[in-house]
Amino acid sequence: MAKEKVVILGGGGGGAILANLLPQDRFEVTVVDKSEYHVFLPGFLWVAFKGQPKEKFRRPIKSLLKPGVNFVHDEVVGVDLNERTVHLKGGGKLGYDYVVFATGAPLDFDAVPGHRELVERFGDFYSTLENAEKLHRTLASMREGRFVIAIADPIYKCPPGPHKGTFLSYELFKRLGVADKVKVVLAVPYPHVYSSKTIADVIEPELEARGIETHTFFTVDSIDLEKHKIYSLEGEELDFTVAAVVAPHTGPQYKVEPGNVKDDSGYIKIDKYTSQVVGFDDAYAIGDCTNAPTSKSGVTAHLQAEVVAKRLQGFDARYSGRTNCPLITDGKGLFVISDYDHPPIPVRLSGLKRFLEELFVATYWSAIKYPELWDPIFEAYFEASAPEVFLRYGGW
Ligand SMILES: Cc1cc2nc3c(=O)[nH]c(=O)nc-3n(C[C@H](O)[C@H](O)[C@H](O)COP(=O)(O)OP(=O)(O)OC[C@H]3O[C@@H](n4cnc5c(N)ncnc54)[C@H](O)[C@@H]3O)c2cc1C
Repeated sequence: MAKEKVVILGGGGGGAILANLLPQDRFEVTVVDKSEYHVFLPGFLWVAFKGQPKEKFRRPIKSLLKPGVNFVHDEVVGVDLNERTVHLKGGGKLGYDYVVFATGAPLDFDAVPGHRELVERFGDFYSTLENAEKLHRTLASMREGRFVIAIADPIYKCPPGPHKGTFLSYELFKRLGVADKVKVVLAVPYPHVYSSKTIADVIEPELEARGIETHTFFTVDSIDLEKHKIYSLEGEELDFTVAAVVAPHTGPQYKVEPGNVKDDSGYIKIDKYTSQVVGFDDAYAIGDCTNAPTSKSGVTAHLQAEVVAKRLQGFDARYSGRTNCPLITDGKGLFVISDYDHPPIPVRLSGLKRFLEELFVATYWSAIKYPELWDPIFEAYFEASAPEVFLRYGGW
């Protein structure tokens, strides 16, 4: 029997795992990526706030794919779902039996006036390893003033990411001996310091105890680098010495036919349980590029990749919407655990969870290449930590 052709667009967190999960006796698998390198995005935090080398957080995509998976280094410029064709920047075309969108959520630095200049001056911890390195240099040379972390749109990757940056920057300033002279400031667009009040109630006292200034209902509207001010849509302004702003995210920038498979923000519309692109039984989308009503996180991309791998083999797998986003302070951690049926459950900060998070980071490269080895361990963890288990037996 001829093998079915699966073309996976993007070799990041979701795409690479899916490629490695598909049995090669049944599928001919091709991954297309515009970059030769897979970047571990959470590594931006370790580079920006801990000064770790950027090389630690990127690897050639080819080296992460199982032998037998084809890799095409080219940019996707269009997908015609009616014609079953992927168009590449280099002029090539790829036909398929199944296509999977996994091209992530690019950042839009032109949406907020002054943002591009801000990143050019100081770097940031959400876009590239190079910008994270630049932010580290900027922060390491700060001796006084205000370091502001702010968010330009409530939908962004890793909801606790800005909070992790806040605690880690405080830790960095403490290490540098300037924590009493550099004020760390966190400004968020929601009514509480975290989008879920349950989690906000846990971290608010931690922020207060460190003297971190917080602002709620602050959605970044524009930045004036010369005046050193950030203005919010709600009409407030914040002074900064150095600032890092999380840029608005977007869906795929390339053309997809028919155009109505993208929602108003450009994300690919999918069935939130099966990851199937609405209206097409030979197209799926996973990870940050979809409109699934759950966190844009590596865990989501991973679990959706497992679902799609099983569905392509004829099993009725479904994604529950489970999240497991780590939020770490300088020493402790918690996981934001929710699914489609449960908002984030009450959790406590603990040293053990910070250790667990470090463990997840340490297993990353192996879990990408050999998901079949790690998945039984992750499945046991997800079962033991399911929202309904916590709600029955109490939090942890
Ligand atoms: C600072 C930070 C901290 C984070 N921390 C965590 C965490 O602790 N836990 C967690 O679960 N998640 C975390 N995340 C989120 C997580 O990294 C992402 O949700 C995850 O990487 C999404 O995987 P993806 O496959 O959808 O997209 P990506 O990993 O972004 O991969 C997309 C791939 O598509 C390629 N691509 C894009 N456009 C094209 C094109 N036109 N043609 C060809 N290729 C293209 C890109 O080069 C890239 O390789 C964090 C993110 C950030 C920024």
